[in-house]
Amino acid sequence: MDQSSIESKTEKFLCPTYARYPLAVQSARGCRLYDFEGREYIDLLAGISVCNLGHSHPEIVACIGKQAEKLIHVSNLFYQEEQVLLAEKLLSTCRLDKAFFCNSGAEANEAAIKLTRRYMNKVRNEYRFELITFSGSFHGRTLATLSATGQEKIKEGFEPLPQGFKNVPFNDVKALEDAVNGHTAAIMTECIQGEGGIRTLSPELVSKISQLQEERKILLIVDEIQTGLGRTGTFWAHEQFGLKPDMITSSKALAAGLPMGALLVSEELAHAFGPGSHGTTFGGGALASAAGLKALEIMERNNLVRQSRETGIWAGNLFEELADKYPDHIREVRGSGLMIGIELAFPGQEVWKSLLEQGFVLNLTQDKVLRLLPPLIISMQDIKAFAQALDTTLSRIRIY
Ligand SMILES: *Cc1c(COP(=O)(O)O)cnc(C)c1O
Repeated sequence: MDQSSIESKTEKFLCPTYARYPLAVQSARGCRLYDFEGREYIDLLAGISVCNLGHSHPEIVACIGKQAEKLIHVSNLFYQEEQVLLAEKLLSTCRLDKAFFCNSGAEANEAAIKLTRRYMNKVRNEYRFELITFSGSFHGRTLATLSATGQEKIKEGFEPLPQGFKNVPFNDVKALEDAVNGHTAAIMTECIQGEGGIRTLSPELVSKISQLQEERKILLIVDEIQTGLGRTGTFWAHEQFGLKPDMITSSKALAAGLPMGALLVSEELAHAFGPGSHGTTFGGGALASAAGLKALEIMERNNLVRQSRETGIWAGNLFEELADKYPDHIREVRGSGLMIGIELAFPGQEVWKSLLEQGFVLNLTQDKVLRLLPPLIISMQDIKAFAQALDTTLSRIRIY
C-alpha cells in the first residue's frame, strides 16, 4: 500500500480516536524509522518511550522468535517460568516485594487503585477509598484511571465518573494538605509528568507526600509508566526524588515493544489480593515476559541507565545553548535523562511540522512543549543533527 491509501482506509475502517501524524511507518531499525517511500527519519520518540533499546534490537527479535516456538500463551491457570524470572529481576530494582502483571499502563494503574481499596477494606478495615492525584497528570483511559487523570479533556463526555477521586493543583502543597481527610487512601503521582509537559515534582511537594505517608498512613502510588526503566537517568525516577512508594506502576518499555504492564507492591499490600480478587487473561504471558526479561538483561549489560543519564545531560546542555541563542523562542528546557521537554514561547505546531519534514520524529504536548523520548541508545550525533534542525527552524520564525 502507499501512504495515501493507508490514510483513507484508516479513516474508513478505524474509530477516529487518534489525531495521527502524516506518516505511515513501514519499518524501523535502531533509531531510524522508514516510511512507504523509503524515506528515513531519526526517531526521538521511541513509540512514546516504548522502544527504549531501539527498534528491532537483534537480541529481542531472536528472543521473541525462540520463545514463540516454545510457548506463546497458556494463561494464569498455570505456573509460568518466564513470568517468575521477569518478576524476580524486576523486583531486584526496587524495594518492593511482589508483582502483578497486566497488559498496559492503564491496567497497571487500575490494579493499583483496586488494590488500594481492597487493602483498606480487607486488611486495615478502614473506610478509606479516596485517591488524590495532581492536575496535568496522565494515568490512563479506563473509567477509573481517567477519573484519576488531572486533565479535563480526557474526561469530557464520559460522565458520570466513578466516585472517590480528588484532583489538586500540581506542586501546591497547601492544596494537597487541604484535600486530605479521613477517607484519603492514597496519593498517585508521576515524578515527572510526561503527557503533562515534562513537569517535575517540587521538593516541597515530595516532602509533604512523604510526611502524609508517615503521619496519616496514606499510601503512595508512583506512576513510573513513562519515567521508569532508565528513561530519566536512574532505573526508576523516584530514586532521584527520595520517595518511598508503596506501589510502583510500570508499562511502556517493559516488554521491549510487546504490550505489558506491571504493578509492584509491598508484601503487606499484596496480601489484600487473594486468589480470584483480580486478574487478566494475557497478563505476564510467556512471550511478553521473555521479551521483558531479555530487555532488562540488555539494559544491565550495556549500562543503558547510565547512558541515558549521560546522553541526557549532554543533550540538555546543547538545548540550553539553543535557549540562550533564542531567548524569545524557547521558554525553558527541562527534564531528566532522556525525558526532555523544550517549551516554546508560542504554539509549536509549525515548528513540530517543520522538524518532521526535515526527518525528525518527536511529540508536541500541551501545545507548546516539544517532548523528546528517544531510544536510550540514541547517539550524540543524532541529537546534534536534531539541534541543528531546530536551530534552522527557529531562525526562520520571527517573534514580534
Ligand atoms: C502512557 C501512560 C499511561 C497509560 O498507559 P497505556 O498503556 O496507554 O494505558 C499511564 N501513565 C503514564 C504516566 C503514561 O505515560
